[in-house]
Amino acid sequence: MSLKILVPVKRVIDFAVKPIINKAQTGVETKGVKFSMNPFCDIALEESLKIRESNKGLVDEIHAVSIGPTKAQDILRTALAKGADTSTLVDVGDEEVEPLAVAKILKKIVEKQQSNLIILGKQAIDDDSNQTGQMLAGLLGWPQATNASKVEINGDEISVTREIDGGSDTLKAKLPMIITTDLRLNEPRYVKLPNIMKAKKKPLEKLSPKDLDIEISKRLQTLKVQAPPERPAGVKVESVDELIEKLKQVKAI
Ligand code: AMP
Repeated sequence: MSLKILVPVKRVIDFAVKPIINKAQTGVETKGVKFSMNPFCDIALEESLKIRESNKGLVDEIHAVSIGPTKAQDILRTALAKGADTSTLVDVGDEEVEPLAVAKILKKIVEKQQSNLIILGKQAIDDDSNQTGQMLAGLLGWPQATNASKVEINGDEISVTREIDGGSDTLKAKLPMIITTDLRLNEPRYVKLPNIMKAKKKPLEKLSPKDLDIEISKRLQTLKVQAPPERPAGVKVESVDELIEKLKQVKAI
């Protein structure tokens, strides 16, 4: 048995950037803003690298795929520099692609790459959809374990511990399967400089949704994006007594 792992990675506004809503209130401002790999996708990539490192000879290939603008090449190069072997960019220009269309495109890539394990992030931090892995599992008819905090491989079986409210849940499934990653699964490695140079020679195939025969037009319209209401400034107190007094004044106790 060998593993052909597919890791879908999304280009999103860097997690450290404080997003600003655009004037038209239809989304966040993207001009002059730093973009990076979605953090949960980075965790998915790290897990695939760890599986290869701790199971010698098991992993045939790690393929990274991104659906996004031409600039999404940058995050594929990062994925290749971290250790992915090959990659595909499905160039959609400036089009925003909804999770169902992403899942349909990924299904085509799975068939093309003959993948038998797909590790995705549990959610993209830009749209917070948390849908793609689940939809892809539905389209492929494969078992899925979402929000993974631990992954163990035993032959052609994989057991996954999932983070759930107030505890954990351990599942087992046979390949092929889908895993989505939670924050505590691992800590992604940093890219080493020489590997960035080497990654330039690794394969990056460019396709369009048309090449895959997938229609990506949107079915949802964003009506309005709003920032949370501003909170009034807090008050600093000097002592516990003063705190209790203040809480009494506002009838909190
Ligand atoms: P979402 O369902 O949009 O919250 O995204 C969940 C996961 O699906 C992400 O962490 C990625 O692994 C994958 N994904 C979503 N959109 C894309 C995309 N445009 N390109 C590549 N992977 C994606």
